Amino acid sequence: MLSKQRVMAAARWKEVDQIPIFANKSPMGPKLIGRKLNRAFFLDDAAMTSSEMALLDLVDDDVVCLNLAPALQDVLGARLVWPDNDHPQFGAPTISSLADVQELADGLEPSRVIQNEFVQALLATTRAVKKIIGETVALEVNCYGVFNLAARLMGLERLMGATLRQKALVHRLCDLIAGTQVGLAPHFVDAGADILSIGDGMSSPACISPRVYGEMALPYLTQTIQGFRRTGAITLYHPCGGEYPIIDQVGQTGADILYFSELVDLDVAQKIFARRHAVAGGVDPVHSLFMGDERIIDANIKQIIKKLKYKSGVIIQPGCGLSPNIPIINLQTMVKSTRKYSKNMQ
Ligand SMILES: [Zn+2]
Repeated sequence: MLSKQRVMAAARWKEVDQIPIFANKSPMGPKLIGRKLNRAFFLDDAAMTSSEMALLDLVDDDVVCLNLAPALQDVLGARLVWPDNDHPQFGAPTISSLADVQELADGLEPSRVIQNEFVQALLATTRAVKKIIGETVALEVNCYGVFNLAARLMGLERLMGATLRQKALVHRLCDLIAGTQVGLAPHFVDAGADILSIGDGMSSPACISPRVYGEMALPYLTQTIQGFRRTGAITLYHPCGGEYPIIDQVGQTGADILYFSELVDLDVAQKIFARRHAVAGGVDPVHSLFMGDERIIDANIKQIIKKLKYKSGVIIQPGCGLSPNIPIINLQTMVKSTRKYSKNMQ
């Protein structure tokens, strides 16, 4: 099977030759081509394309994943601080009242959103990568979920307070963010994306209670995922952080793939969601990939695969985004071990 066929089959619980592996390799790319992970990189489609292709050559996993988060933050008017060589950080709040949200909404006409320079650079990257990989490897476009983006506009502390004291503001802002995400989705699918995904750690049980999640985050995460689904793309949702308390709610988003942190046992998640949703995750980003060596990573993968009841409906993946300092050889080991242990699985 080609990588893309394998991923699509696993997402739909159809037969696979081996378990697909997503390596979360993107942060290691800029260094590989002599660039830094900074603002200029995210505006340079040629650099983003060569970075992803160099990584795919080396790591050889089953997906190319492009990052829409910086573009979305820029579209939504977030004041970002760009470190020398890292993802943009929250600078200062831009939203503190319903009037601020209204002002933001007034400036978000679809024709202006699509002309954003970061959006245009990522669309060009999507088309260029698709031209190279064709139908061989799955192409994913990933962005932050509604609470992650709201936190970049309000500040995390203020957002947490607003879930109790300014509920109308949170609802209106999340609705606006979800609408903006859904509006962009068809453009990326037209450009070649097979998978549209969101990660939303700020609405995980690490930040808010399951009750607040159900009331204020889940409806808008669902709105985003359902909007993504209407484009025909496979959808993936990463709740990111101690997900067991909301595990009965995350499936309601309707995402094809539920991608859990390593705090959720992949075999347990696979049994819970069997034949309804595919699950992804399992690999410990810190103890295994960052601090571990070939022996530790191989043992980690062997253990994860041994416990799985089904060969399909699952993707092996680090439990969260990775630090750019992780050695590429550790990702290569993860890919090789996944193939080695899942090939002969029944
Ligand atoms: Zn995560």
